[in-house]
Formats: sequence, structure tokens, C-alpha cells
Amino acid sequence: MTTQPDRPDAEQFHPVTEDQLAEQLAYYSSRAGEYDDWWLRRGAFDQGAAANERWLREADQVRAVLESLDLGQDVLELAPGTGTWSIRLAPRVRSLLLVDGSAQMLAHNPVAGQGNVRTVIADLFVWDTDQRFDTVVFTFWISHVPRERLEGFFRSVSGWLRAGGRVFFVDDVPAAKDEPHVAGSAGQTMVRRLNSGRSATIVKNFYRREELVSAADAAGIELDVQETETHFQYATGLKR
Ligand code: SAM
Repeated sequence: MTTQPDRPDAEQFHPVTEDQLAEQLAYYSSRAGEYDDWWLRRGAFDQGAAANERWLREADQVRAVLESLDLGQDVLELAPGTGTWSIRLAPRVRSLLLVDGSAQMLAHNPVAGQGNVRTVIADLFVWDTDQRFDTVVFTFWISHVPRERLEGFFRSVSGWLRAGGRVFFVDDVPAAKDEPHVAGSAGQTMVRRLNSGRSATIVKNFYRREELVSAADAAGIELDVQETETHFQYATGLKR
């Protein structure tokens, strides 16, 4: 499937403010208890057997890519949240560092607290480390990175990787705008509804393959970006 550009026209482009980034993080903390309904297609996300089966099949396809990747020994997972992907990483590596801004999300992460897993609660737009890793993983995070920070984000990822290190990520394609918790979108932002009825504005960018490849390349990472049939964009990368 080809993803159509979703880039706002230059005159409509508004950089994301610090307040909006704070609102995004607060939204995830409020959503922590209901977050997994989305991935597990429960409640409002249950769209019937055929649609659910397609989601699960495509999720399996992406998971298989991660399983086939040589993760090395030391892995950094950015924005791991409730741990859907952390559970796939922790058993395979010597050390896993989880960095997320929300204690509430991390409280649901099954591997946080395991012997080879370290957890840091920090704002990823500020956090840095001298530690170097064999692989950096971020699932359903890149779409939350403001466009004006994309290159800088890949530069940070590259800096955290050892030479020859790997990247893996997965995210939504624009079809995600039709999900039941979406109340609207404009420019780089999307309005999301919580089960409580409250809503929040978050950052949601559907990056085109070429802009991801270009931003990663500028940071010294060769990226291979693919899509599943309906739902997911995913990528593997290698630091030159
Ligand atoms: N990776 C998980 C997954 O695949 O289900 C969670 C992804 S969830 C869409 C986004 C995650 O980003 C949440 O866990 C949220 O707490 C975290 N997050 C949002 N803003 C953040 C920030 N500024 N710094 C660190 N983490 C942040």
C-alpha cells in the first residue's frame, strides 16, 4: 500500500509548542489503564472478527520482523509504555533500558522491574545518556515526534547507537485517523477522546517513507521503511 503524503502545506505549518508536548504526555498518563484496549482490539476498538483478524495478522507480520533482527546485547526502548513490545525484547537481551515520561504507563509494563531491565522516567525531548546501545527500538512513538524535531530525533538515536547498531520502529499509517478515539485532526495534531469523555490534543504525524529515510540518513542511519497492507508502517535501520 502507498501512503499518501499527509504533510501540511507550508503556510499551515505550526511548530508544536512545549505546552502541547506536555498535554500529549499527560494524555498518555490519563489513558494508561485503557491504553491496551487499542492494541488488543477490545471495547470500542473491537471492529468485528474479520477486521480484528487483519489487525492481528499484520501485527504478527511486524513482530516477525523484530524477531528476525539481531538485537545485540544492550537495547534502548524509547516510549515503551505498557510494554507490548518490551516483552519481546527483554528475554532476548543482556540489558534493556526503558525510557518513558509516564510512570502511569510504565506501571503496566510487565518487564519493568525484571533483573535485566532498567527504567527511567524522563521527557524524551530532553533526556540524554552517555550509554551506547546495540539496538534502539521505538514503537508508536515516531508519529508523536514533531516534524521540526524529526532530524534531531534521529541524530539522538544515532548518537545512542554503537557503530553498526540497529534501529527498529513501527507506527500507524493514516488509516488510524478512523479509530474510535479520534475526535479530529489538524496539521501535526490530533484530538483524542478518553473513556471518561475528556479529550486531549496530541501530536500525530504520518511520515512518508522518503522523509523518514532522509532524516535518518542525515543522522548516519540507513533506514528501510515498509508497510503492512492496512495498518502499520515499520522500519529497520543500520547505523553506518
Ligand atoms: N511503545 C508503546 C506501544 O507500542 O504501545 C507505547 C506507545 S504510546 C503511543 C506513546 C508513549 O509515549 C506513551 O507511553 C507515553 O507515556 C510516551 N510519551 C509521550 N510523551 C513523552 C515524552 N515527552 N517523553 C517520554 N515519553 C513520552
